[in-house]
Amino acid sequence: MSGRRGGGCTSVLSMLLVLGLVISMVVYLSPALDLGNVRRTVAADPMDGVPGSGGEGYSFMQVAGDGDPVTWGCEERIEVVVNPQGAPEGYAAMVESAVRQVNEASSFSFAVTGETEDREFLDRGRGPVLIGWADEQEVPELEGLTAGLGGATYVSGPGGAARAVGGMVVIDTESQGGGWFSRGIDQEVVLVHELIHVLGLGHTEQTDQLMAAENGGQDQLGAGDLAGLAALEDAACG
Ligand SMILES: [Zn+2]
Repeated sequence: MSGRRGGGCTSVLSMLLVLGLVISMVVYLSPALDLGNVRRTVAADPMDGVPGSGGEGYSFMQVAGDGDPVTWGCEERIEVVVNPQGAPEGYAAMVESAVRQVNEASSFSFAVTGETEDREFLDRGRGPVLIGWADEQEVPELEGLTAGLGGATYVSGPGGAARAVGGMVVIDTESQGGGWFSRGIDQEVVLVHELIHVLGLGHTEQTDQLMAAENGGQDQLGAGDLAGLAALEDAACG
């Protein structure tokens, strides 16, 4: 897979691993919330979330028309399904551990409810959050050093408010122990990072946070990450 490295562009990034682009999927509903009239747009945003949003050490992935960050319902239980195709050995325990870390750090709770054969990563509507593994042939956004993608689908109402109703995390099958570096990156760290994108945080420029776009070894949630999750809770529970 030497082609993955692509020319000489990795020299600057050799000490960094990219933890994932931000994928936003917007489902606009008609004022009557008629699912028969869903209009869906999918946008891939390689940048950091909404510039200037958030606070010290965190940003929001999306800000709704009413000014609040887009996130889930107050203390919502968010159903998760796992597609094990391409997953590493021990994936179930890894997913469980990543979910536990995020749940302990926030008032939202992801709940793994089963496995699926669903591989529709980039065009998701309302429903369970899909966790899966893929390569860049299947999901081109995983090209290069990108280790994973994560994001939410949300509905936007006529008053400007918006709320997440679905989402996904996809991990690059070559991100651990084989692809780019002899050591690879810990996929559990990638999973935690991407699940926090699903909750609604974007990237931060502070490199000692787990939500930094590029990971240089950070494997624990930082103060900015925790403050960001608290801000999402405030927005959800108002
Ligand atoms: Zn990311």
